[in-house]
Order: sequence, then C-alpha cells, then structure tokens
Amino acid sequence: MNGARGKLVVISGPSGAGKTSVCRALKQRPEVEFSVSATTRAMRAGERDGIDYHFLSRDDFQRRIAENQFLEFATYNGNMYGTPRWPMDQALARGKTFLLEIEVKGTRQLRDRGIPGLYVFIAPPSIDELRRRLTGRGSNDPVEIEQRVRIAVDEIAASREIVAGAPLYDVVVENRVLDDTIRAVEQLLWP
Ligand code: 5GP
Repeated sequence: MNGARGKLVVISGPSGAGKTSVCRALKQRPEVEFSVSATTRAMRAGERDGIDYHFLSRDDFQRRIAENQFLEFATYNGNMYGTPRWPMDQALARGKTFLLEIEVKGTRQLRDRGIPGLYVFIAPPSIDELRRRLTGRGSNDPVEIEQRVRIAVDEIAASREIVAGAPLYDVVVENRVLDDTIRAVEQLLWP
C-alpha cells in the first residue's frame, strides 16, 4: 500500500481527568485505531479481556518484557501496564491515526526515544474536582482513590516538563466540560 503513514496520538493525564471519555469519542472515527494495553491489574466490573485491556499475570507480563514485546511499559499504583508494539506499527503503515492512552512515565519513554506523534495531556480543573470524579465513577475504593490523587499531583507537575530540550507534551487541555474538551482535541488532530 502506498498511502501516507499514519499519525501517533498519545493521550495522557491523571486517572479521572477524562481521557478515557475523550478517547471513546475519538474512536468513533473510522480512521482512528486504538491501542489495547496489557496490564497486571485485576479486571473491573464491566471490563472485557482483549477489549479494554489484555489482562495478564505478572509472569506473563515479565515474559513479554523479556521478549521485547512492549513499545513502553510502566508500573502504576503497583500494577504493570504496557503497550504492545506491533498493533501500532501495523496501523501506522496502513495510514491510520493510532491512539495510545497511557500514563506519564510511559509517555516519557516514547519521548526519550524520539517517537514522533502528537502528545496531549488531559488535565483536571483541580485536584478537588479530580477526587470528586474518581469517587463518582465508583470504580475504586477510597484508599485507591487517594493513591490515584497522589499520583495525579506528580503527573500534573510532569505535564509541563521539558525532555531533551522539548516539552514532554505538545498540548495540555484542561477538561472542564467534556464536549468542549473533545472538540478541542479533535481540532488539534484534524485542524
Ligand atoms: P486504569 O487502572 O485506571 O485502567 O489505568 C491506570 C493508568 O495506567 C491510567 O493513567 C492509564 O492511562 C495508564 N495506562 C493504561 N495503559 C497503559 C499502558 O499501556 N502504558 C502505560 N504507561 N500506561 C497505561
């Protein structure tokens, strides 16, 4: 196929900031493909193996690291998360817009290696609002919510970081009203 190479879009930001909702909207477009990450965390109610994540044992995850199967991987709140390498290569070769929804440490690995793409950070309006959203969605117990809030404080600080002379993220979008945020990200992708 001779079509133009596709574009990588990295969507990152704290748990509860709204990045999954933004990605869900972007996925409606036929030219968009989405990375299904691997994780060692337990499956939540409503999640499906192979669709929301590839749910793996720690041994299986470690084996795949040893086999160099991940484009990037990171530990988040005691669990491992990683992006399988091959789906992105295949999607970009087919001219697709390929979406990664990953946390900050994984983003840094991609930037360090100079992987081209649009790097977007979805930020919450405030930490209090983030805590409210995490509580409201009911997926995490109170201890985990506080752990996620603590990680968020560091992630928000990292969102303005400079890596090798360039910003870690190309854009930081504050998610106050979801529809406005989706429109803002769509504008960045398809100006
Ligand atoms: P959750 O447990 O809420 O599904 O995800 C926790 C965090 O891990 C979120 O910030 C999510 O974006 C991030 N994450 C999901 N998949 C990956 C991945 O493949 N790599 C990295 N680095 N982070 C991921």
